Amino acid sequence: MNKLRLILGDQLNLKHSWFEIHDPNTFYLLAEMRQETDYVKHHIQKVVGFFTAMREFAATLESENHQVLYYQISDPENPQNLETIISDCIAKHNITHFEHQLPDEYRLDQQLKSICKNINIPSAISDTEHFFTSRTELSDFFEGKKSFLMESFYRAMRVKHDILMVGQNPLGGKWNYDHSNRKKYKGEVEIPEPKNLKKAVAEIVAEINAAGIKTFGSIDVNNFNWPTSRKESLEILKYFCLHLLEHFGDYQDAMVTDQKFLFHSRLSFAMNTKMISPKEVLKTVLNFYHKHSDSVQISEVEGFVRQILGWREYMRGMYWKQMPEFATKNALENYNKLPDFYWTADTKMNCLKHAIGQSLDEAYAHHIQRLMVIGNFALLTQTNPDEVDEWYLGVYIDAVEWVEMPNTRGMSQYADGGIIATKPYVSSGSYINKMSDYCKDCHYDVKDKLGEKACPFNSLYWDFLDEKRNHFAHNPRMTMMLSLLDKLKPGELAKLKEKAQSLKENVNTL
Ligand code: FAD
Ligand code: SF4
Repeated sequence: MNKLRLILGDQLNLKHSWFEIHDPNTFYLLAEMRQETDYVKHHIQKVVGFFTAMREFAATLESENHQVLYYQISDPENPQNLETIISDCIAKHNITHFEHQLPDEYRLDQQLKSICKNINIPSAISDTEHFFTSRTELSDFFEGKKSFLMESFYRAMRVKHDILMVGQNPLGGKWNYDHSNRKKYKGEVEIPEPKNLKKAVAEIVAEINAAGIKTFGSIDVNNFNWPTSRKESLEILKYFCLHLLEHFGDYQDAMVTDQKFLFHSRLSFAMNTKMISPKEVLKTVLNFYHKHSDSVQISEVEGFVRQILGWREYMRGMYWKQMPEFATKNALENYNKLPDFYWTADTKMNCLKHAIGQSLDEAYAHHIQRLMVIGNFALLTQTNPDEVDEWYLGVYIDAVEWVEMPNTRGMSQYADGGIIATKPYVSSGSYINKMSDYCKDCHYDVKDKLGEKACPFNSLYWDFLDEKRNHFAHNPRMTMMLSLLDKLKPGELAKLKEKAQSLKENVNTL
């Protein structure tokens, strides 16, 4: 009996139980495909990252004496779509049994269901053995509830997995250190250089270009700096523990010109491709913390645990809870076009110039840049969430739909009507000024609302609240924002709205 086992590009889990047995009759299939490069336009670093990681994964399997069938993007025999590749392999290698791991993306889940129906041989599905929770665990947890608070899910996961717990109580006496995790960075401590992996990728970039794949963004072909193997993923995890964890929580929300990574881990790509698992990431970080609790505070570690055990698992559960309707939700009825400068960073608004510029240069921006600068502006200008989603899905190296969509359409654009975000993440310029040093060098004046050089975020903020107030009328978390809106003098609101209207109409000149 010959068996075919499919491994998708985000299923590079070398620790999977599949690989415990060496069977010469089992073929592992990996395929670089136009179907995956073309469903959205991706950043060049994202395509390079995925293909390189897949190639290295296949090479490791081969070195461990597994049978590997690999389709490169430039292979003339490559039919470029999954269905044909699988049926070709079945015919060529006399396959009598097909297996795949549970895909994390709805689109591929549907496609694989249809493939399994059509191939006329028995098939089976394995878990990816990656996440803490199953696809439906969050839905089961919130069964019958009206609100879906991340915090209650997170606390239940802390208890269930016994992480930072003393019996049934949180270690340190508090579940949440969010308030101490909101410092502006003022140079008090040195920011370490990000770990440099210095890889040459000119060959694969040439291959991708020659194949005619349309990409965007830039890449330094002599210095590709994302992990593409389990070994490198473990290296950046170690680097995070040794150099970054100590200040991770404190400066989690800070934004600094010319400091693209601050104390962030840069582990999302390694985890989203499953080169390392969230379980081993937390185990390593917690072991480090317990050995170094004299220098690493619990607030730093809890901040990190919350992102991985809390937000990451919560977003995945929310994705499966809301798909497929999620993909078209537009609760606030926003239909404006995404500004052109999202593709060029050519804007006089310094915060957006830096946050978008670094996204295009590095295929990376940290959470608050994604949420409170780039996403905030898209929402304030009432941009169509389809366009916002497409941009986020293409631009970041870690962008896979199960985590990108709940963060973008849900948390950042409020397009699900408040299922994920309990209030819209919008702010005027003052929040950006509080958390960054962008405003001091900006063409615009963060304190001004109406003048020629007034910060655009200011009038857009009041205009947004006024235009969308009906959507928020019954939301208790919006009471304060709306009562401040009501306190504006009628003449003042009219002027702010007039200013905002002109900004929206001329958004590409800002
Ligand atoms: P760190 O700040 O070091 O955090 C550690 C880890 O926690 C991350 O690697 C990630 O796995 C996890 N994490 C943190 N925040 C979140 C979150 N909100 N949701 C899920 N996991 C989280 N993350 C993605 O992995 N892929 C995406 O496509 C993606 N799109 C986003 C879009 C928007 C609009 C926003 C606001 C956030 C998005 N995020 C996404 C979440 C977060 O911004 C990234 O996970 C993080 O910036 C990755 O960098 P890091 O590894 O240095 O993270
Ligand atoms: Fe951004 Fe306004 Fe600050 Fe300029 S002044 S950096 S546009 S928030």
